[in-house]
Amino acid sequence: LLIISRLLVALGATFQLQISSVLNDAECAFLKSLAFEGALVFEGAEVSEASVDFGKLARLAPPRAVLKPASVQDIGSLVRGIYKAAVASNNNVAMTVAARGHGHSIHGQAQAPGGVVVDMTALRGIHVMATELYADVRGGELWIDVLQATLREGLAPKSWTDYLYLTVGGTLSNAGISGQAFLHGPQISNVRQLEVVTGKGDVVVCSEKEHSDLFYAALGGLGQFGIITSARIALEPAPQRVKWVRVLYSDFDNFRKDQEYLISQPLGKSFDYIEGFVVSNSENLLDNWRSSLFAPAHEGIRTQGDAIPAASSQSRSGGANSTDVVYYLEVTKNYREAEANCIHEKVSAMLAPLHCIPSSIYSTDISYVDFLNRVHVGEQKLRAKGLWDIPHPWLNLFIPASKIVEFDAVVFRRMLGKRGSGPIIIYPMNRNKWDARTSVAIPEGEDVFYLVALLRSPSEVASTEELLQQNDAILHFCRSAGIGEKLYLPRLSGAAQWRTQMGDTKWATFVRRKALYDPSAILSAGHSIFRSNY
Ligand code: FAD
Repeated sequence: LLIISRLLVALGATFQLQISSVLNDAECAFLKSLAFEGALVFEGAEVSEASVDFGKLARLAPPRAVLKPASVQDIGSLVRGIYKAAVASNNNVAMTVAARGHGHSIHGQAQAPGGVVVDMTALRGIHVMATELYADVRGGELWIDVLQATLREGLAPKSWTDYLYLTVGGTLSNAGISGQAFLHGPQISNVRQLEVVTGKGDVVVCSEKEHSDLFYAALGGLGQFGIITSARIALEPAPQRVKWVRVLYSDFDNFRKDQEYLISQPLGKSFDYIEGFVVSNSENLLDNWRSSLFAPAHEGIRTQGDAIPAASSQSRSGGANSTDVVYYLEVTKNYREAEANCIHEKVSAMLAPLHCIPSSIYSTDISYVDFLNRVHVGEQKLRAKGLWDIPHPWLNLFIPASKIVEFDAVVFRRMLGKRGSGPIIIYPMNRNKWDARTSVAIPEGEDVFYLVALLRSPSEVASTEELLQQNDAILHFCRSAGIGEKLYLPRLSGAAQWRTQMGDTKWATFVRRKALYDPSAILSAGHSIFRSNY
């Protein structure tokens, strides 16, 4: 019996193998039958690279092929061909298409197991219209290249991400946020027009006035409604230099009140960038604050003291804050060289109302490009130590302002025992800078909400598995305490979880738009929204 059953299993396996190789051949032949100006690659480095991402957590099957498009029409032909095949087979054809920007997703969102990955970086182009204050940019362009190209005309986009080696299409599919979002909104609030290839293969130019439903669907749309082949990005005159200030807090309440005060200041009177950080004081950061700040070359243009004599006692007297957690705030003021004489006084006056530890105010002066590209310096250091290409069990949350004190008390000061390495970022944003017509989900009903980004990597104190478990525990706390959080860059699975994330109204719109623009659920299936087998 044993021999017969083994034989049957072996025969079954062989049979399955034969079916799948016949399917493989048929799918490859089908893909080859579509005409492309660019290259369709079936094996080699391109294919294996397209099955991993920055997160190094998702282990999905590789795509059947990678398309390196030479034109927007190539992308249209691919999606149209697969859409027609899906319709002809009554949606039994499982092949999907994922646009891949720079592959900096965490959980396989830009992957297409058994399908086709479109390498968006193959299609380049940045055209700056200086007189009109915009740039038309291909979806696969990196933001660092957009910055360099627009600066040549003395202009720059207004809203950024902390890290610039991400593609325009990739960040616009999420939101694109950094310390400028409180003032200018996320990157998706700074787009005038898109060119999109829908899930039917149609190439559509859309904006607030033209095909506006598709325009707002695609912004923050997680690639579900179309592949962004081009975006018209709003520009402003670029500053030349940045006064960059860091201040320290031992008290969370002062820290968050100051952040909320700063983001309430009107344009012209406000800082240009505001981000907060949560750090462990286990290495006596309070006592080593000055030396832990900017790199020596940048250090101490303006200081208000070399040590922080009151800090430790303030920390100790903080009652509920007597843990090893401290907070610091980064703010910047952009300026042009002609304003160099008065920037010092201007920034000092703007800092005066803050409730930080007074002797902890340090600043540096840096070029605009170096400031915006600051994370790249960190990347190079981590790469040199072999700590860049490792797993990234990151968790990004939007937390309503009314719950941030509770979140701090439970998560920062109690739950984050084993921290791993990597920054913990926390900064508030104004809801009125976000357009409710876009697809992105943000906390409901409050004027201010925070980004909390736990950007941790495994270290000798915490493994990837432990950090993932801690992320789950944090989400469990949020749900059981009714925090009203929304995930940013979410990893969820299945319609029920996505409906909870978006809320009933947004979910209904999302489903309606999917039926309209990608009825066969071909696009970006790695998010596990409309296909749960990923
Ligand atoms: P990919 O990972 O390639 O794709 C992401 C998703 O978008 C996939 O679903 C993909 O199918 C889809 N997609 C890609 N291109 C297109 C397109 N042209 N049209 C339609 N859909 C498309 N985010 C912030 O908001 N602020 C930050 O400060 C920030 N910092 C980061 C720092 C680092 C080091 C990393 C790794 C990520 C950071 N992110 C940040 C997250 C980042 O914005 C997202 O991961 C983004 O998706 C990455 O862009 P990408 O080009 O690598 O996209």
